[in-house]
Amino acid sequence: MPELFIDGTWRDARRSGFRTIRCPADETPVTTVSEAEPPDTVAAIGAARRAFDDGRWSRRSAADRCAVLSRTAELLARDHDRYARAESLDTGKRLVESQQDLDDVIAVFRHYAAVGVDDGDRRVDAGGTGVISRVVREPVGVCGLITPWNYPLLQASWKVAPCLAAGNTIVLKPSELTPSTAVLLMRTLAEAGVPDGVANLVLGAGPNTGAVLAEHPDVDLISFTGGSITGRRVMALASGTVKRIALELGGKNPNIIFADADLDTALDFALTAAFLHSGQVCSAGTRLLLEESIAAEFTDRLVERAERIRLGGPFDPEAQAGPLISSAHRERVEAYVAAGLAEGAGLRCGGVRPKDPELAAGFYYRPTVLDRCRAGMTVVREESFGPVITVETFGGTSDHDREEAAIAAANDSIYGLAGAVWTSDDARAQRLASRLRLGTVWINDYHPYLPGAEWGGFKQSGIGRELGPAGLDEYVELKHVWHNLDPRPQHLFGS
Ligand code: NAD
Repeated sequence: MPELFIDGTWRDARRSGFRTIRCPADETPVTTVSEAEPPDTVAAIGAARRAFDDGRWSRRSAADRCAVLSRTAELLARDHDRYARAESLDTGKRLVESQQDLDDVIAVFRHYAAVGVDDGDRRVDAGGTGVISRVVREPVGVCGLITPWNYPLLQASWKVAPCLAAGNTIVLKPSELTPSTAVLLMRTLAEAGVPDGVANLVLGAGPNTGAVLAEHPDVDLISFTGGSITGRRVMALASGTVKRIALELGGKNPNIIFADADLDTALDFALTAAFLHSGQVCSAGTRLLLEESIAAEFTDRLVERAERIRLGGPFDPEAQAGPLISSAHRERVEAYVAAGLAEGAGLRCGGVRPKDPELAAGFYYRPTVLDRCRAGMTVVREESFGPVITVETFGGTSDHDREEAAIAAANDSIYGLAGAVWTSDDARAQRLASRLRLGTVWINDYHPYLPGAEWGGFKQSGIGRELGPAGLDEYVELKHVWHNLDPRPQHLFGS
């Protein structure tokens, strides 16, 4: 199937490289797609460049562009089921989760359609008469959008909706493992009225597509979501042409539970925090930090609940968690668990593939709890991106000391994406919220986010923000226009 969308036309890659996408739940083939070679990616960049430069999108009014986004949201709602099924087949995630993802995607398009873009100008007092000084907001230009496999369409929507709202043109490069919903999105955008050449799609592995986008001088901005190692590579490639860059990278997220919390609720959320989508969530709360006095009992109860989690495929209504994305990824998760055990962690449950023969064809891995963990261990420091909770404890002789110990442990990471604190003491919760070096802090909750609130990482979890006003500003250039109404010679260099 031709699945490169360039200048409003579907085409095969020039040398027609193909990839068969297989469902991670059982390896059944889902689709076969055509993958780009570098010249195809360059052609997509060229189309986006021409579409930007002739103003077919950028010079439309912001209200007009937002109407197209609003129509996109309507069409996504119309095709909800088709999108959700495609996402589940590519990722192996439970259909109910894909359906929720679709609701979130629609909410993002609606959000940016509703808040609109300020395409007016801001007057600045130039300190006298005879001058009009104004700052105008303009689109950045051609944007290369590179996305991961864990939330394929949702991560794309966080980029595509604000990018189009601001008047830019796009080359979207989804993960080579999960391209189906990006293909559908291109059809939806075209149907909603996005002109030819404004939104382009290239499929394929990073080096032939994403790297070409990151390096190419006609791409003005790269917005990348993915792993930290790839993010560093993309940053280096983009530096050659000093592009605008936004990076949403990994996390190793602390979930801090004090003894005074509602422990039943905290326990329930500790499972959701870590095992949702089998831990393949950038903000997964896999680093559990327990106050010493509750640690033993809390861990026992956590293990008992984790052992009962039912694994299954995307369309199994009884399943509570699905497979990992690939065989190679499962091996990586297994290696992290093995490293944890070698460094002294205790295996409390999981740490194995399920024995159920019905799951044998998929890339399943049992929810795993490791206790006796310390901050220095590899499995605590690095993102395993699998269903693996590491349990650490914090203590001290006073409330103040215990609080300081929790903050120090949580901040002891190269990452700073998200995390939670559970306590019934509101003042303490607010103290932690202000001291944790994280882009998102949940108090007595885990995982919710809002299209209107910024998302992103401190430290090595990224650069820039998605969602909210800042998520739109990523795609906006500011220009100062100084208009001298009464120009006269200055004679600085004589007359
Ligand atoms: P990845 O880094 O392997 O791939 C991400 C994207 O980059 C893919 O489209 C891939 O093809 C592309 N890519 C690979 N090599 C490239 C190169 N040299 N140049 C340009 N592009 C290249 O990540 P993944 O495994 O798809 O996703 C999982 C990671 O994403 C995790 O680390 C997770 O934490 C992170 N993530 C972060 C957020 C966030 O909001 N911070 C959200 C979702 C996922």
